[in-house]
Amino acid sequence: MGFDGMPERLFVCTPSKLGAYTDCPRRYRYSYVDRPAPAKGPPWAHNSLGASVHTALRNWYALPIDRRRPEALPTLLKGTWVREGYRDDEQERAVFRRALEWLESYVETLDPGDEPLGVERVVAVKTSVLAFNGRADRIDSRPGPDGPELVIVDYKTGRTGLDADDARGSQALALYAYAAERVFRKPCRRVELHHLPTQTVAGHDHTVESLARQLSRAEDTARDIIAAERAVADGTDPDDAFPVSPGIRCGWCDFRRSCPAGADAPEREPWSAVERALAPVEPGDGAAE
Ligand code: SF4
Repeated sequence: MGFDGMPERLFVCTPSKLGAYTDCPRRYRYSYVDRPAPAKGPPWAHNSLGASVHTALRNWYALPIDRRRPEALPTLLKGTWVREGYRDDEQERAVFRRALEWLESYVETLDPGDEPLGVERVVAVKTSVLAFNGRADRIDSRPGPDGPELVIVDYKTGRTGLDADDARGSQALALYAYAAERVFRKPCRRVELHHLPTQTVAGHDHTVESLARQLSRAEDTARDIIAAERAVADGTDPDDAFPVSPGIRCGWCDFRRSCPAGADAPEREPWSAVERALAPVEPGDGAAE
C-alpha cells in the first residue's frame, strides 16, 4: 500500500506482460517475478522467423524510397536473419526461401512512396492504474472524412489464419490505438493484422467505447497482478497467488520443464511450428475482413 497522501505506484506494463498473466498467472510469475527466473527451454524457430521478418520490414522502411524495391529484400532478410531453433540447415534454408516469398508478395501491396507515421514505434500512455508502453509494428496515417486518421498495423507470420474477430479482440492492438491517439493527437480507431503467409488483412474499427473497454480490462488485469504480488509479499504461497492455467499453450511455454502442470503437455520440438509454415497453405487458412 502507498503511504498516506502518496500516490500509488503505477503498474508499468507492455502488451506481452499483460498477456502473460491473462494466459497463465504462473507463466507471468516465472517471467517477471521469480529471480533468478527458472531456466527457459531452447529458442523457438518460429520466434526466430517472426523476428527476422519483422526486422526486415522495419529496415525496408529505413531505405530511401527509390530503393524500396523487391530486389532489396534478399539482402534485407539475410541481414536480419535469426538462425536459432531450426532443425538443420536444410530446414532453415527452406524457411528463409518461404519468408522471402512472403515479403516479396507483401511489398507488392505497398506503395513505396508511403511513409508510415511510425515503424516499430514505441507509444506510451498513463492512466490512474497503469503506465503502458508498447512497440507498434507500424502506424499508418490515412485520409479520413475529417482529416488524417491513424491505423495500427501488426504483422503476423504464424500459420493460423486470422479474422476480424482476432483484430477486434486483440488487447494489444487496442492499447496501441489508445496510446497512439494520445501521443499523436489524431484519431486512431482502426487496427489491422497483416498475415504475411496468406497476404490477408484482418481489420477492425474500434469506437471510443470499445477502446475504453479494452483499457478497463487491462487495468483490471494490472490490479489482479498487483494484488497477487502483494499477497506473496504478505506471506501467501507464491504457487497459490500465481496459479497454473494449464492448456494447449503449455506445449509452447518456455517454462514447461520448470512447471509441474507443464509436465503433462506434449513436447514440441523447437522447429515444430515452422514445419507447419512450410506446408502448403490451404484455402481458408487465412481470412480477411
Ligand atoms: S507450462 Fe502451462 S501451466 Fe505451466 S507456466 Fe507454462 S502455460 Fe502455465
